[in-house]
Amino acid sequence: MSTIFALSSGAPPAAIAVVRISGANAALALRQLAGRLPVPRRAVTATLRDDTGLDLDRALVLWLPGPHTATGEDCAELHLHGGRAVVAAVERALLTIPGLRRAEPGEFTRRAFLNGKIDLAEAEGLADLLAAETEAQRRSALAMAGGAFSRRVEDWRLRLLMLSAEVEAGLDFADDDDVASADCSTWNIAPLRDELAGWLMRPRAEALREGYRVVLAGPPNAGKSTLFNALVEAEAAITSPLAGTTRDVVSRPVAIAGVPFLFLDTAGLRDDAPDLVERAGVTRARTELERADCVLWLGAPGDGPAGAWQIAAQCDRHDHNGVTARHRVSALTGEGLDDLRADLVAAARQALPVPGEAALSERQHRLVSDAERALARAVNMRDPLLVAEELRLARVAFDSLLGRTTTEDMLDALFGRFCIGK
Ligand code: GDP
Repeated sequence: MSTIFALSSGAPPAAIAVVRISGANAALALRQLAGRLPVPRRAVTATLRDDTGLDLDRALVLWLPGPHTATGEDCAELHLHGGRAVVAAVERALLTIPGLRRAEPGEFTRRAFLNGKIDLAEAEGLADLLAAETEAQRRSALAMAGGAFSRRVEDWRLRLLMLSAEVEAGLDFADDDDVASADCSTWNIAPLRDELAGWLMRPRAEALREGYRVVLAGPPNAGKSTLFNALVEAEAAITSPLAGTTRDVVSRPVAIAGVPFLFLDTAGLRDDAPDLVERAGVTRARTELERADCVLWLGAPGDGPAGAWQIAAQCDRHDHNGVTARHRVSALTGEGLDDLRADLVAAARQALPVPGEAALSERQHRLVSDAERALARAVNMRDPLLVAEELRLARVAFDSLLGRTTTEDMLDALFGRFCIGK
């Protein structure tokens, strides 16, 4: 396998640039560039030179022999002065060393996985951690990357193995009908099945990644765009007293109290929209209403979609007499906005994964669901042969969760989510 290198710190220029090297020729690379191999795991300063003897930089150098490294391979780190030309010169010099090439996105992490340093669930958590923008995303990803979910799956797997052992012990007596049917009442499959079902009910990681979807809807000129801007605290949508100003859906992700939201401003809903573009906007608005986690309805009460929150907007100039609204707000004076935000945060917390607890990705959800269905079938079976087969299917799902059985495509998809240098 080739030795890979990449700039693992942010884009230059920066104070320091960290180039990581991993693979069998990491030692060779260090010897060529720094002129010697430093004491393992000690940061030393060295002058780096290319193969013509030209000085490239004076750098901090680390030699990290495997297998106790992040990737499990021999590794080296070069902490360079973070100028663009310094990094470029060192990368050019590295490319002249036999067996070295630039790393693909996520390739360091992929090697860590292939060498058993992390399992697949932890790698998925790591990808989310690097992409995390809000506090809620960071905490959930950290739980996944730290192995909280992996430990849970290991526990399920162990319980499953014990169940399989009990059932297969029954198989030895399968000829004897009495023993086989008497024993099946003691196979305690239901508790594990219930636990999996509980996990399937939890909000998913994707919800956390995309944010809680709040759609602002109502007739033209209700004040949707103005309220949208106030909520996202930016001038994202164009407001005007002309009906039909917002023609497309404008969306903006924001974090409120560390919770991720996606606010969407829609075209005013009217059936007599004069032109084609506006009518297309109305159609998109209807689609967004269906996908919304929460709809803020700024129109007449009763006209909004079921479950929408009735908002009495522009309350500084309209008194909304007799209207029962969940919130009375004025985007102009700011009245009621804090209450609306607090209400939204509370609703989102209900719908999104609990911070600090690992949330299942779509892939993980599908596998837990496979296992749960196999166990649900097993619960109702009496023939140990059939039960053993269902338990085996559940075990296959657990193995895939941890990455014990994976396909190249799946690994490409996962590790492609990482940036180069990770
Ligand atoms: P939309 O068509 O529902 O998006 O409505 P806009 O946000 O474009 O608002 C229509 C008009 O009402 C604009 O002229 C806004 O300046 C005005 N407006 C919106 N919200 C308020 C508010 O809270 N108070 C007052 N006084 N005017 C508002």
